[in-house]
Formats: sequence, structure tokens, C-alpha cells
Amino acid sequence: MVGELSRRFTDDYWRELDQKRGYPEEFVQAMTKAGYLSALIPEEYGGLGLGITEGSIILEVVNRSGGNAGACHGQMYTMGTLLRHGSEEQKREYLPKIASGELRLQAFGVTEPDSGTDTTSLRTTAVRRGDHYVVSGQKIFISRVQHSDLMLLLARTTPRDKVARKSDGLSVFLVDLRDAPPDRFEARPIETMMNHGTNQVFFDGLEVPASQLIGEEGKGFRYILDGMNAERILIAAECVGDGDWFIDRATTYAKERVVFDRPIGQNQGVAFPIARAHVNIRAADLMRQRAAELFDAGQPCGAEANMAKMLAADASWEAANVALQTHGGYGFAAEFDIERKFRETRLYQVAPISTNLILSYIAQHVLGLPRSF
Ligand SMILES: Cc1cc2nc3c(=O)[nH]c(=O)nc-3n(C[C@H](O)[C@H](O)[C@H](O)COP(=O)(O)OP(=O)(O)OC[C@H]3O[C@@H](n4cnc5c(N)ncnc54)[C@H](O)[C@@H]3O)c2cc1C
Repeated sequence: MVGELSRRFTDDYWRELDQKRGYPEEFVQAMTKAGYLSALIPEEYGGLGLGITEGSIILEVVNRSGGNAGACHGQMYTMGTLLRHGSEEQKREYLPKIASGELRLQAFGVTEPDSGTDTTSLRTTAVRRGDHYVVSGQKIFISRVQHSDLMLLLARTTPRDKVARKSDGLSVFLVDLRDAPPDRFEARPIETMMNHGTNQVFFDGLEVPASQLIGEEGKGFRYILDGMNAERILIAAECVGDGDWFIDRATTYAKERVVFDRPIGQNQGVAFPIARAHVNIRAADLMRQRAAELFDAGQPCGAEANMAKMLAADASWEAANVALQTHGGYGFAAEFDIERKFRETRLYQVAPISTNLILSYIAQHVLGLPRSF
């Protein structure tokens, strides 16, 4: 069913959006209407109540069909913080509206220009004043702000020098962007190499009602970390989808394109790199399935989720390179869509977490090597 829906949004649709850097409004609406964006929201809050296995298959199929699930994955896992740590009142207020599409929670505000990957050094502050918090600071690379009603925001509520551990004193807020006055909140689009609708975001004394604090004040970093395994698995699935799409295109082209009186795929110099990329995608897919299985069984899956994300991002990037090479000059022509997907899949080596940080997690937490930062 997801495949059928995705195929309605053809290569032309995604190519045109890419060229005008547009938001896939019709696609997101169709996905919402079909209920797919609420896959992970429990049925009692109006969602489909599915597991991460099914959620990840939805995103995989979108990318496998030549589309880009980027606008969907944010909503799928961002709401997990609200689901796991929000009050019953917050969940009843927001989750059914997110599930029905009445409200979009697609913006996730963590990264800052000065702190980068070192999240606990972030400088955006939220200071309590009576029944609200006053938020000031700057975020960078915050995607889909213009197309989201709500933003999950991580800000410092206790100064870093007043907490025992630097991961303490950070809090999560569900910010209603519809109420944000333009002189207190501004989002400035950043031009990037692919169509991702990302922004610089400025908070200048934005008042956020205290009722929008998620969970306990000062525990926000842990709440954000909690959602990371789900995020890694979903991104891994998108990469597997991309990888299979590249292999499909490369294989088809290598069979059809005749040079020196033979299909180019008859040359092992062309065939082997495609075969190798396919092997690596299948291996990454197994790790992603294993991670999803553990996640759905409520078992620890940090190592598997991280390994799946890294293997899948590497495999999709390898497949992208191979597809481009197989297409020769035509790979660079926009109408073949290879160069678009090539740009899109490259992101996953860096965001939402870069490969080095995954290796660092494995070195420290799985292998017990000394902590490096
Ligand atoms: C298109 C796009 C969309 C994004 N959307 C969002 C969003 O919606 N919300 C959000 O919060 N963020 C978003 N991000 C931000 C993204 O998560 C970060 O770019 C990413 O986490 C890396 O942070 P950074 O860019 O500050 O890199 P830096 O932290 O500056 O790192 C730069 C490089 O140095 C490496 N490095 C840094 N420290 C170490 C170390 N100790 N050891 C080894 N290597 C190290 C990193 O691996 C990286 O390759 C988005 C980014 C992009 C490009």
C-alpha cells in the first residue's frame, strides 16, 4: 500500500520539487491521510500503533520508490519524546491532532552553530518567569520549520556551571510555532545541496507557557537521547531504500546501454561494483532488521541501531556512487534523477549523526575503549 501511494508521486514530482526547493505538501498530506505518519502513535491516541519495524518499512518504501522520506521521518520519531515523557494531558491534547494531521510536529530544534555535535554545550536558554519560560538563543539546520505547527526544542534551563554533569540542566519544550511573534522568533532558510528546507532559527525572548515543558525540568538531554535509537533505525531503513533504488537503476541501465557492441553490464568492471554495493546493502539491511526487532521487543539496541545507521548510510552512498558511474555522463543529467538521489543520500553520513560519532559510540560503549571527549 505504501508502494502504491509512493508510485503516485513520480520522479517528475520529486525532480520539480528539488529544482524549486519546495516542500512535498501533496505527498505529506497523502501520507498523513493514509495514517502512515502516525505509524508509531499508539491506537488510543489515534495512531496506527505499529512498531519501529513497520514504521521503518514505510520510510524504506518511500525512498525505494525514488521519493524522499525526509519530510516524514521527523514527525515519526519526534513525537516519541512527547509519548514517552509528556504528561497524560499533553499526550491527549497533541497526539490525536498529530495523528490526524490537524497539527504537524516536524521541527526538531537541537543543533546550534557553536556547539555542533557537542549538544550539552548548547547555549539557547529558557528562563522561568512565572507561568512561562523565556527562550533566547540561536539554532542552526532546523528543518521544516515553515511547514510545522510545533517544534520540539532543547534548551538550557540551568547554567552549565551550576549543574553537576553537563548533561543536566537541559529541558525539552513543545513550542507552538503558530503563536510565535515575528519579533521573538525567526527562521531563515539555508540553501543546501539538496532539498531539505532547513533553517537558521533565532529566539529573542520568545515566551513559552510552562505547560509546554515535557517531563521534568533539567532532564531533557536524556529524553532526547531516548529517541535516538528509533531515529537511527528509521534513517537506516531510508538508506536501504535509497540503496536498492540506486542498484535498480544501475542494473537496468547496465543491461540496456550498449557501447562497443555489448551491454556495459557485460563488462565485469561495470558489473562487480554494482554487485558489491548490493551485497553491502543486504548486510546493512540485516543489521537494521535486527535493531528493529530488538527495539520492538523492548531490548537494549543502542549498538545495533548505531551500526545499522552507519552500515546503511555507507552502503547507500556506495550504491549512489556506483549508479552515477554506471550512467556515465547521463548520471549527471537531472532528468535521470541519479544526481538528485546522490545528493540526498549523502546527507546521512553527517545528519542526524555523523559517522565519526557512531564509531566513537561503538569504541567507547561497546568495546570499552577510553572515552575521547
Ligand atoms: C540538511 C540538514 C538538516 C538538518 N536538520 C536538523 C534538524 O532538523 N534539527 C537539528 O537539530 N539538527 C539538524 N541538522 C544538524 C545535524 O544533525 C548536524 O549537522 C550534525 O549533527 C553534525 O553537527 P555539525 O554540523 O555541527 O558538525 P560538527 O559537530 O561541527 O562536526 C564536524 C565534523 O567533525 C567531526 N567531529 C566532531 N567532533 C568529533 C570528535 N570528537 N571525534 C571525531 N570526529 C568529530 C564530525 O563527525 C563531523 O564530521 C541538520 C543538518 C543538515 C545538513
